[in-house]
Amino acid sequence: MKKNAAAPSPISLSEGEYTTAVLKAIENRVLQSRASLARHLGLSRTTASTIVSRLIGLNLLKEKHSLREGRGRPGILLDLDETVWRVIGAEFHSGFWSFVETDLKGSIVRTMSIKVDRGDSGSFLSGLVEGLAEFSKDVGGELLPAFGIGAPGLVDCDRGLIIRADDLGWKNVLVSEYVEKKLKSKILLINRNRGAGLAEARFGGGRGMHQVVYIGIGTGISAAFIIDGELIHGTSFGAGEIGHITMNKEGPLCACGKRGCLHVYSSGTAMAKMAAASIAEEKDSGLENKWKTGELADGEAVCLAAKEGDALALECLRAASKYLGLAIANIITIYNPDKVIIGGPIGSLDSPLIDYLRNEAELWAMPHALGAVKIERSALGESVGALGGACLVLDRKLSLASMVRNK
Ligand SMILES: [Zn+2]
Repeated sequence: MKKNAAAPSPISLSEGEYTTAVLKAIENRVLQSRASLARHLGLSRTTASTIVSRLIGLNLLKEKHSLREGRGRPGILLDLDETVWRVIGAEFHSGFWSFVETDLKGSIVRTMSIKVDRGDSGSFLSGLVEGLAEFSKDVGGELLPAFGIGAPGLVDCDRGLIIRADDLGWKNVLVSEYVEKKLKSKILLINRNRGAGLAEARFGGGRGMHQVVYIGIGTGISAAFIIDGELIHGTSFGAGEIGHITMNKEGPLCACGKRGCLHVYSSGTAMAKMAAASIAEEKDSGLENKWKTGELADGEAVCLAAKEGDALALECLRAASKYLGLAIANIITIYNPDKVIIGGPIGSLDSPLIDYLRNEAELWAMPHALGAVKIERSALGESVGALGGACLVLDRKLSLASMVRNK
């Protein structure tokens, strides 16, 4: 080393960054005592103890039973305190708002669902405000002062704005601004399937995995790409908009303005259209009566009919799977994930869809990546998107709890 060369300056974190690191390490069960936190984060024992005391004071951490580490005095095991704070998340899907209340560990303690009368963005917004106001009345603890919301379409998370939701015909819906004015509480907005993916990666079938893809199938299709429990948003929040990847340049026109998008072949809307067209061609199926009575108006109904063994519905599902399975194969080849989770109102139904998708993906994915991936149906069921909204609030628990306590 050259004489008088300047020694590299140590990387110094701020107190806030250390506090976040301590909370994260305990939350992820990587480190669970003051001594191990001090040792692994390069803190003095006093500083580690000060930070832990502050987090206990904010009711974010609690002490559990003793832990013997080596020969020294037994340490005290630390854990998230799930007894004080409560979090509310919500999601809009298929004309319903679903709400969940969770504790700090993301365990769901209460749910509620309300139907929105009309399919316009005004009813969507007023339903959300009414639902949040109603659901907040009976919270079983202290509420962290923000609501996490899963919304349809392409969402600008910074501005709390739905940029466009093509399957619903909405553009520029200022969700956060509207709700914050009405309820005087912070709104954190995310695309519903990105939120659902986050919840699956943290609490469901993707827990503990390195790379997870969640594909939500409803009236539209979109995905979430998650690495180590964190969502990839993309530069302008567009990462995961797989409903609009081009499958056929000469294909039918999509609501987004392009031709041959995955959406026009594989969404619930596409499945329902296919069923209607086949029935109009008078194909032999017991579905005709159901269609006339409006029972088969959406993709969910087609999937359920397929599960019952209806030949026409099975054909529609198989046709939709050809394109979606190919898209999944390409995602597996590009992204090399541990797991692809199929969810959303249609994807999470018990139907032959998952088998069709698996078979199709196996035909087209690169064998190396295919050998490492599992393709599974969503494990968390109906409340998953609302739980995803709650994840946004849980991610900010330190700043939100500090805000309340330091008022
Ligand atoms: Zn499109």
